[in-house]
Amino acid sequence: MKNLSFPFFRVEGSPFDVGLQHGTLTRERIQKSMDIYRKAFLELGKLQWNQALRIAKSFVPTIQEYDVEALEEVKGIAEGAGCRIEEIIALNSRTEIMFSAGKLSTLLDGCTTVCVLPERSATGNTILAQNWDWKPSCEGSAILLEKRMRKGVSSFNFIEAGMVARIGMNSAGIGSAGNYLETDKDGKTPGVPIPFIKRKILSSRHISQAIKAVTNSKRGSSTNYMIGYRQGFAIDIEVTPDELYVLYPQDGLLVHTNHFLSPNFKAQDISRSRITDTLYRNWRLERILSSKTGKIGVDDLKKAFSDHFGYPYSICRHYDIHSEGLEGIQTNGSIIMDLNSGEIEFAAGRPCESGYKSFRFEVNLI
Ligand SMILES: [Zn+2]
Repeated sequence: MKNLSFPFFRVEGSPFDVGLQHGTLTRERIQKSMDIYRKAFLELGKLQWNQALRIAKSFVPTIQEYDVEALEEVKGIAEGAGCRIEEIIALNSRTEIMFSAGKLSTLLDGCTTVCVLPERSATGNTILAQNWDWKPSCEGSAILLEKRMRKGVSSFNFIEAGMVARIGMNSAGIGSAGNYLETDKDGKTPGVPIPFIKRKILSSRHISQAIKAVTNSKRGSSTNYMIGYRQGFAIDIEVTPDELYVLYPQDGLLVHTNHFLSPNFKAQDISRSRITDTLYRNWRLERILSSKTGKIGVDDLKKAFSDHFGYPYSICRHYDIHSEGLEGIQTNGSIIMDLNSGEIEFAAGRPCESGYKSFRFEVNLI
């Protein structure tokens, strides 16, 4: 087992205070992240950093209209990290910026997610889990961040430093996971960058608000939102800029990878032909978990997320130096969240190499 670990930080206060502490504590990682994306925008999209920042700045009115508190948090992060607001927005809108440059197709993507409902889980609780697959260089900028809000809902977040949200759970027992999806409609119209929608999901006191965070958003790109709820519920919302489709668990299991499962979007789905391993990762995870005799425990999920079927393009994904001209990715972290108890199992890097570490997030503190 390798001793890879990501730093854990706890911050508290108002949205601005939380941002300020986040920015101050992770200043070096935020700078590292900016270096990574400065280079990526240039190499993949021939986009200079100042051009990227101009695009990032153009998202401000949309973000302000959608979630004023999120913008306050961004201002805090920027002040703490000693950088410009648009630089933090650029980190939070990297996908949208690459779409604007029209060059996202040179970068591979991934992620495998699952929600296990009480009728299938060994503890009788609702479990939401994800393997996060992305650029190997981003392993060095990932953090775990617990945000204790003075007013409102607190959250546990697995993010790249400087991001307002991505994968996580909150003190109301709502969890957020997700998967990259792509259609030819993406990047044509401005929308709310994905991390801001995820922040709103994780700021919700009630599952209906979390769903609304997605359905009422002005969207610029496709993606998949998997939302779990401690009352034994999960919903999956596949979105494009102008449409959405809802999926529910089957036999207590909801699995998603990087292609649209809705028949409505199959004709527009670019991701299924570009990220072909998605077609067997989904099949494989569903097969492993549904063939389990008896209930599914956390150890079963750890094993499933370490699976090497189709290696290196497997659920536990490893970097392939022969990536056929496309930039390769790898699993940078794996998280298993119990939405009832707040018990979290986290593996930094590939779960087959690093193993999982336990965290406890206090739920019911709203
Ligand atoms: Zn592995």
